[in-house]
Amino acid sequence: MRREDTYDVLIAGTGVAGLCCALNLPAQYRVLMLSKAAEDESDSFLAQGGICMLQGEEDFAAYFEDTMRAGHYENDEEAVKLMIRTSPAMIAELVADGVDFARDGAGNFRLTREGGHSRPRILFHDDVTGKEITSKLLALAKGRENIEIRPQTELLDVIAEGNECFGGILRDNAGGGVYPVYAAFVLLATGGVGGLFRHSTNFRHLTGDGVGIALRNGVAVEHIDYVQIHPTTLFSKKPGRRFLISESVRGEGAVLLGADGKRFCNELLPRDIVTGEIRAQMKKEGSEHVWLDMRPVGEKALAEHFPTICARCREEGFDPFVQPVPVVPAQHYFMGGVKVDLDGRTSMKRLFAAGETACNGVHGKNRLASNSLLESLIWAKRAAKCMAGARTQVASRRPRADISVYADHAALKKSYEKHIREEAEREATID
Ligand SMILES: Cc1cc2nc3c(=O)[nH]c(=O)nc-3n(C[C@H](O)[C@H](O)[C@H](O)COP(=O)(O)OP(=O)(O)OC[C@H]3O[C@@H](n4cnc5c(N)ncnc54)[C@H](O)[C@@H]3O)c2cc1C
Repeated sequence: MRREDTYDVLIAGTGVAGLCCALNLPAQYRVLMLSKAAEDESDSFLAQGGICMLQGEEDFAAYFEDTMRAGHYENDEEAVKLMIRTSPAMIAELVADGVDFARDGAGNFRLTREGGHSRPRILFHDDVTGKEITSKLLALAKGRENIEIRPQTELLDVIAEGNECFGGILRDNAGGGVYPVYAAFVLLATGGVGGLFRHSTNFRHLTGDGVGIALRNGVAVEHIDYVQIHPTTLFSKKPGRRFLISESVRGEGAVLLGADGKRFCNELLPRDIVTGEIRAQMKKEGSEHVWLDMRPVGEKALAEHFPTICARCREEGFDPFVQPVPVVPAQHYFMGGVKVDLDGRTSMKRLFAAGETACNGVHGKNRLASNSLLESLIWAKRAAKCMAGARTQVASRRPRADISVYADHAALKKSYEKHIREEAEREATID
């Protein structure tokens, strides 16, 4: 049985949001990071397409408009402007951290394009951009003496009293023990909600825990019904996570075909619209999927830019160099979440949230492709700076944590899921 511990910052999640926060905290802060599974089992590792960067002042209005249009103009304008303006500095930091983005012969970044973007502004590393970024940040975090990473350890709840956060209740998923950890600040960086859906591109263990914890503790949440469906995942009858075929494949020329071999929509419209077109086509045909023909991308570009996607299609028995592959929409991203301000503060004192579990208003009703790694990193860093500037000694105050409440782990998780579903239904709009 572990003893109780005290840290300056407790971070739930080892994706880009958790890691970027940890790395931007002062070296004298003792930081504990948790991952419900292995530390590299996060959606951040799965990101394929890339990460957006503002292409000079002349791109500002277009990038802003693209993000707003994709989000049905429900985005928080201040948050969108902040993200866009900060993007070059954030990319420069990633490069300084050793992240390698594709470059042309002159050393300039190569840019790709995805649905909803009026011009190319997406940096990438083959088709494994998320792995490139996250593995570098994870290696840096592992090298920091002040950061401890505890895999297979789940945040079950926060320790809260009078709308103030004092730490968290942890569960050792390998051994089964439950114990409290006290901390001056807690960051919820638990990722998305895909594990609650039958068909999703997300890791199955991402079940909206941060949102469940917020709802249980009366912390404000927003737009829980804003869930993004990705139009093109590889069709498979096997259970488990759905494999994403990045939008940048369509950005580079791939086309969608019906059973009759004919195109039926503009592949570069925002995700929700393309998803609607695919579903309408499937209904019309009575089919389980449509087809994606990647051959227009060209053999060389397909092999060089999308090696992982091509390999995975072949594993499923479809060679994208010689035939179209079957694709179907699946749950992909969560625009709603724990409501935060421009510094990642939630409505509970000393409780922060960043990344996919948080809702800062950047994405509105629908996320523009390749904005989420960027947004996660920027808000995580802002949360870290906020924590750094307001160090509070809470070690002397340790509200008693009643561990017996958490004896039935499965029932607690079910109650979180129920909270999330009920809230989503309550908020749900007509469509
Ligand atoms: C297939 C795929 C492709 C994508 N492609 C792109 C792309 O090209 N560009 C882009 O910008 N975005 C992309 N995204 C979205 C992007 O990857 C995510 O939105 C982003 O990585 C979220 O980062 P995060 O740190 O918030 O969460 P994640 O990276 O998902 O990390 C969540 C972490 O929380 C941990 N966790 C969960 N619950 C608990 C708990 N209760 N206690 C402790 N730990 C917990 C998990 O173990 C994990 O470590 C893609 C997503 C997917 C699934």
